[in-house]
Amino acid sequence: LSRNPGEVEFHQAVREVLESIGPALGKHPEYADARIISRLCEPERQIIFRVPWEDDAGGIHINRGFRVEFNSALGPFKGGLRFHPSVYLGTIKFLGFEQVFKNALTGLPIGGGKGGSDFDPKGRSDREIMRFCQSLMTELYRHIGEYTDVPAGDIGVGGREIGYLFGQYKRITNRYESGVLTGKGLLYGGAKVRTEATGYGSAFFVNEMLAARGESFEGRTVVVSGSGNVAIYAIEKVHQLGGKVVACSDSSGYIYDEKGIDVELLKEIKEVRRERIEAYAERVAHASYVPDRLVWEVPCEVAMPCATQNEITGKEALALVRNGCIAVGEGANMPCTPEGVQAFLDAGIAFGPGKAANAGGVATSALEMQQNASRDSWSFEYSEQRLEQIMKDIHARCSETAEEYGMPGNYVAGSNISAYTRVAEAMLSLGLI
Ligand code: NDP
Repeated sequence: LSRNPGEVEFHQAVREVLESIGPALGKHPEYADARIISRLCEPERQIIFRVPWEDDAGGIHINRGFRVEFNSALGPFKGGLRFHPSVYLGTIKFLGFEQVFKNALTGLPIGGGKGGSDFDPKGRSDREIMRFCQSLMTELYRHIGEYTDVPAGDIGVGGREIGYLFGQYKRITNRYESGVLTGKGLLYGGAKVRTEATGYGSAFFVNEMLAARGESFEGRTVVVSGSGNVAIYAIEKVHQLGGKVVACSDSSGYIYDEKGIDVELLKEIKEVRRERIEAYAERVAHASYVPDRLVWEVPCEVAMPCATQNEITGKEALALVRNGCIAVGEGANMPCTPEGVQAFLDAGIAFGPGKAANAGGVATSALEMQQNASRDSWSFEYSEQRLEQIMKDIHARCSETAEEYGMPGNYVAGSNISAYTRVAEAMLSLGLI
């Protein structure tokens, strides 16, 4: 704590992992001898830089850019960039730390890192977004590369931003190095299903948790928070799997549609028109918009938090359990506080932590890197099959590990121990670096 003052989300993420890996340390005393935990909690490299840019009216703004290269024992650093005014070093470190374990769980050769900026994209014109991305990349380009560090999207960074970032990288380096960023557009090295991957993957993971209990999505009422990339495609896949998502949200409030959210309309509002979620209720007569309230007050059987960290505290978790919730899958990173997680575990409901449940996005990014390296492009169907299999494998890895360590059905312990063991083994093999 004293080494990293004020980084509360980072402390929370580290504590959550350390609290569950005790059994693994008992079985492998060599991890303690090699001080793996201390090495894991210290990023390999942290870069903080100035991002100056000019708005449409000629005003000059200075933002702060970050890239935290956390651990490259398993492969190049890999993790998204977040643009949100709340971003500070503690946000990026918590996300980077989580990413190390998530990436290990995928079974693919990727290390963990994360980056971003305290830039607020809301209300900015397309030209302003482009100028900001170009300025950020003018510093970031020297730290990244297909064999070094491969950023992608996260909150506030989607296909448009990745396009501008890639354009500037290509311009500065004079290299068409497709594998330097993932989440690219399909015309310039992007992979099919990457846009859908995190949301689809989360729904696949919840489907596996339900199946393990003899249940399914069929006929279930589902609530999703957020209305961004992860939320939209989680909703789409839940509907394909037979569930009905009746509510989703943004940071201003939520919409309720008892007939089930119309995903095509949601995409039009969020991806094309870039409007607020409120616009949905203005177009659908039977839908309602509830401002300034959390979506978790809507009764549901499955909850999928897909917005941001710490959006479900103990209070919301208890309300969900009281209302009959049987499964929770974290589409977002660390959306449940420790009290929230504990309430779900105490109630014995299926709880899929983000490291496992939302790993489909980064896994498909690794598939994008694979396609870029071989100058290939796979079909949508094949890519989706690969994603589904990866999510099934992650589910199996977590549940087998939980079982092995005497905590059947505990995906928190299963994911942390399984990922930690993999990273620790690789670090031991590479020596004291
Ligand atoms: P988007 O920017 O596309 O969407 C974010 C959504 O969450 C928006 O609806 C936004 O509402 C809401 N939101 C963001 N911050 C807050 C906040 N402080 N309070 C309330 N609501 C908020 O991001 P993504 O969908 O890509 O990411 C969502 C989550 O999923 C994040 O935790 C991210 O780290 C995680 N994730 C994303 C992956 C990806 O592939 N994109 C991969 C793995 C995890 P508003 O517009 O009002 O801000």
